[in-house]
Amino acid sequence: MSREDYEVVVGLEVHAELSTKTKIFCSCPTSFGAAPNTHVCPICMAMPGTLPVLNEKVVEYAVKAGLATNCEISRDSKNDRKNYFYPDLPKSYQISQYDKPLCEHGYIEIEDKDGNKKKIRLLRIHIEEDAGKLNHDEFGRRNSS
Ligand SMILES: [Zn+2]
Repeated sequence: MSREDYEVVVGLEVHAELSTKTKIFCSCPTSFGAAPNTHVCPICMAMPGTLPVLNEKVVEYAVKAGLATNCEISRDSKNDRKNYFYPDLPKSYQISQYDKPLCEHGYIEIEDKDGNKKKIRLLRIHIEEDAGKLNHDEFGRRNSS
């Protein structure tokens, strides 16, 4: 096989933090700079008996992003649990979207240096909660203070 037998395909996964006042599934603030473990609640920590409630503003922003990028907006969307174990997510799952994202099949149009237009496909836009933040000291140890 020669080099000409191959086609370069580049995919990007882009994460965007939405400017909501509260988290996606509870009323904890999203502001930065607070002391560790102060912007959490029983819902964030998945305590038994709690249920997440979707922040409507997140859906609004995601749909706006989908409309701006020529996506099909789904009328049948759902959230899923993505199980993983890592210290930034002690409840061991992240609420995300898998098979029914909010927006799909979009594109943005760009123009190259010769003025030729090209569509850059956008597979999907989905919403998910952000994992926690780990603080480390100058020796790389996790800071629990
Ligand atoms: Zn919370």
